[in-house]
Amino acid sequence: MGSHYGVKIRKRENDVLKQQRQSYVCPTCQKKNVARTGYAHWKCGSCGTELAGGAYALSSSVGISARKTLQSLKPKK
Ligand SMILES: [Zn+2]
Repeated sequence: MGSHYGVKIRKRENDVLKQQRQSYVCPTCQKKNVARTGYAHWKCGSCGTELAGGAYALSSSVGISARKTLQSLKPKK
């Protein structure tokens, strides 16, 4: 029973590590070059935009607003 919990926690730690190493799309220049520089602090390596995001993953609300910007930039048919 106890070992079951151990596996679950280890899995979650792995996910956090993956999110920390992941690059995120910059909402300013749209390049996937945003890296975690500190606790809840993110920086784009391309344009230098600094972002305050989640502790281990860039806030999803940033991704949603970036996606909205991309959609509005697309020419309408
Ligand atoms: Zn950028």
